[in-house]
Amino acid sequence: MWLATRNAKKGVELARILGVSFHVRTIGELDALAPGKPPFEVVEDQPTFAGNARKKACETAAYCRALGIDTRDLVLADDSGLCVDALNGAPGILSARYAGDDATDRDRIDKLLRELTGVPPQSRGARFVCSLCLVHVASEPQSPEFEHEAEVRGVILEDARGTGGFGYDPVFAPAREELATLDHGPPSEGDEPWPRSFAELDTAVKDHIGHRGRALAALCEHLNSAYPSARAHQQE
Ligand code: IMP
Repeated sequence: MWLATRNAKKGVELARILGVSFHVRTIGELDALAPGKPPFEVVEDQPTFAGNARKKACETAAYCRALGIDTRDLVLADDSGLCVDALNGAPGILSARYAGDDATDRDRIDKLLRELTGVPPQSRGARFVCSLCLVHVASEPQSPEFEHEAEVRGVILEDARGTGGFGYDPVFAPAREELATLDHGPPSEGDEPWPRSFAELDTAVKDHIGHRGRALAALCEHLNSAYPSARAHQQE
């Protein structure tokens, strides 16, 4: 399965969750198959997460075909971002470019916190969204094999906390109710300090309740039922 992302940290998260069951490779590896050519890029110009995920998946599959990649391979694209209620859903599909093309995660966080100056805790609701699109390298014109969008709700903190994760993780704290599906359930009031940002929580927690983890869980369910023999092969 080819992961259609050049965001190294997002790739790590995708591979961590999917790598248990699938042999994953990133499009960075495709560059080596086309020496002398500029790195393959997809312009993310669609109005929705789902549209951008589909465009990334389809264009990457077409590129794989042109490079002679095994047509039985799959391409998975993820388009994701942060939607803040008080900002009418911004930065949304523009999350990666919120503070300009060359900005850092820190720049984007600083801009977000500035925009929310004076907004009280009860009005700082937000959600992370992840849209996935899976296509076959062979499919043409691409009718996606699987599409799914998932989200996790939470709040934007007043300052950045924690060193884990990536992107906006240090300022996003999942809602306590979102942790209800964890084996040990949500921490009880007074049990441990809350809210806690995704950058402070264990990666296992984010993998389980996060937007990407939830979307990937649906994807794995689909793959396990669509390719039962592949699953049996993995278990040997
Ligand atoms: P894209 O999906 O590559 O267009 O970019 C998504 C952008 O949204 C990333 O660059 C991050 O800024 C942000 N983002 C998406 N998912 C996450 C996440 O799990 N944690 C923190 N930030 C995220």
